[in-house]
Amino acid sequence: MILGLVAPFLLQAAASAAPFPEPGVDPTTAAQPAAKAPRMARLERAVRAREKALAQIYQAADARAEEIGEEMARLAALGYTGELADLTHVLPLPVASYYLSAGYGETGPHWATIHTGLDMVAPLGTTLTAIGDGTITSVGDAGPYGLRTVLTLGDGTEVWYCHQEAAVVDSGATVEVGQPIGVLGSTGNSTGPHLHLEIRPDGGSHVDPVAWFQALGLQP
Ligand SMILES: [Zn+2]
Repeated sequence: MILGLVAPFLLQAAASAAPFPEPGVDPTTAAQPAAKAPRMARLERAVRAREKALAQIYQAADARAEEIGEEMARLAALGYTGELADLTHVLPLPVASYYLSAGYGETGPHWATIHTGLDMVAPLGTTLTAIGDGTITSVGDAGPYGLRTVLTLGDGTEVWYCHQEAAVVDSGATVEVGQPIGVLGSTGNSTGPHLHLEIRPDGGSHVDPVAWFQALGLQP
């Protein structure tokens, strides 16, 4: 009789010790969020990695755009305002740095015959720039021309940079348009700091540098 009363109680106690799910949680779906979580986490990590990679690409593009902007500003200062891809020649000095004192073909007490180049007056120490791609074919003292660097362009045109204070590239060096090659000075037969620039097509006779530059769309 007593056992008959106790037995249902014991069964109930044993049953309540079993691991029942939390109230309100459907045991048939309770396991699913736990299975989904790693997959979601993986996807989120992948998205974050992709966002980071994209941010780096944008950052690199911004940096490159800034570099191109700086390069275009530098070339504009040297008289070139076209597209970077079309660049072939620039002026030897920043436009704002000089004025022309003596033109090609002038005569006078300074010159034995005629003035064979273009005189560009600028402050001592102004950077002299390669006006085109080419090779430095001579660097050294050239008497009345002072310290002279000869840049031979790809088409054989010789460009003489005279009266330099210093040269910053050696003979034999390959240079690119826009590259610094010397320092403006007043060496040789010179009355003050200036660049005497000569242009000699095919290494022959000098021509008027102004007309030569104008034919290339540049205005000294
Ligand atoms: Zn001169």
